[in-house]
Amino acid sequence: MAFESLTERLQNAIGKLRRKGKISEADVKEVMREIRLAFLEADVNFGVVKDFVKTVRERAIGAEVLESLTPAQQIVKIVNEELVKVMGEEAVSLNKSPKIPTIIMMVGLQGAGKTTTASKLAVKLKKEQHARPLMIAADVYRPAAIEQLKTLGQDNDLPVFDMGTDVSPVKIVEEGLKVAQENKNDYVFIDTAGRLQIDEKLMQELADIEKLAQPTEILLTVDAMTGQNATEVAQGFNEQLNITGIVLTKLDGDTRGGAALSIRAVTGKPIKFIGQGEKMNQLDTFYPDRMASRILGMGDMMTLIEKAQQDYDEQKAQDLQDKMRANSFDFNDFLEQLDQVQKMGPMEDIMKMIPGMANNPALKNVKVDPKDMEHTKAIVYSMTPQEREDPDILKPSRRRRIAAGSGRSVQEVNRLIKQFKQMRDMMGKMSNGNFQGMENMFGN
Ligand code: GDP
Repeated sequence: MAFESLTERLQNAIGKLRRKGKISEADVKEVMREIRLAFLEADVNFGVVKDFVKTVRERAIGAEVLESLTPAQQIVKIVNEELVKVMGEEAVSLNKSPKIPTIIMMVGLQGAGKTTTASKLAVKLKKEQHARPLMIAADVYRPAAIEQLKTLGQDNDLPVFDMGTDVSPVKIVEEGLKVAQENKNDYVFIDTAGRLQIDEKLMQELADIEKLAQPTEILLTVDAMTGQNATEVAQGFNEQLNITGIVLTKLDGDTRGGAALSIRAVTGKPIKFIGQGEKMNQLDTFYPDRMASRILGMGDMMTLIEKAQQDYDEQKAQDLQDKMRANSFDFNDFLEQLDQVQKMGPMEDIMKMIPGMANNPALKNVKVDPKDMEHTKAIVYSMTPQEREDPDILKPSRRRRIAAGSGRSVQEVNRLIKQFKQMRDMMGKMSNGNFQGMENMFGN
């Protein structure tokens, strides 16, 4: 989960004020000193830290904080507001060209996540706008890069245009754009080559592609885990190309948060998306206010709700409700619900989006073992269709067979069936308006 160490340090720093009724100017200075250290340790750009600390300190000393009876809360409020400002205030959406296709050129260092992000974005546009994207493979230096794009294309039903590695990238883009015109693709993604670091030849090549393609968006992909370096790379690209937006990848592995906090202020360009995992659905719009809440450990309910809604199917929800009311929720429905939860991502990440949970010591080392869910599924898979639809026929001999089939113990099978039945009863009661006995739902 992103930002753990930064969140912890900020909370400790501000937490010290909680014990005080009223605070002095010296207290504010002390807190700001700690916040400054926390940011520097998080690999936030030095200039950004300096400006941030200065603004917060001035606001805190000048304003209501010293008079306030809840100084810690006031400081949190100011820090939160300034964090939102540093990260750009508002979410910035993808530019769209008035005539098709909208051309999106992906640039960034090797391994930053260009190819993955291009595919994630194309999948997102397909899903949200029924878009018909075309992917152009213009990284001719690494044959593996073309193969990777093709594989992602195959897996996600995205057409990929390539001409192998013997043709110049500019030529490939030129031909690819013709194909897009012919096929009336509404989006074109150009996956360009990266290098281990910025070099002149690469920049020239990218500038040539830019000149030819006149892209609507040049999205710079940077790896958040590289912290300060990511900020420098962004600055380098921004000086030479007309970057329109930034995608910050691998935020799932970034405990410090330096890149997220610095890039906007240093480059003046908006972070448009964040990558939070390798899977195709792990790309999210960047909302500065939500990110600030996460950094301060105040949770991110909006993202949580959106994740739940992403795969929400109105009709399925209605069917489920009808089943619950009729008490006919069965093991097939149960499996579907499990899948739904799993799609949202690792359980411990989801829990940390709940306000107050991010730095809850009880959760610190919690790893919800994905195997537990797999075990549960294995048990259900070992049931016959008839058993899944009618769990009441699950007599001991059947349970023994299921245990043997799934490689789990009979006790585990018994426990699951018992929990399932309790859940089903409770759902039936609740959807019929009877909330009594709900407390039993959380115990055995
Ligand atoms: P490219 O060289 O810039 O095209 O980078 P790739 O798209 O090949 O990505 C490099 C590696 O980073 C791949 O293994 C991706 O699966 C991985 N990756 C990309 N984005 C993310 C992300 O948001 N989170 C995580 N954990 N991995 C990512």
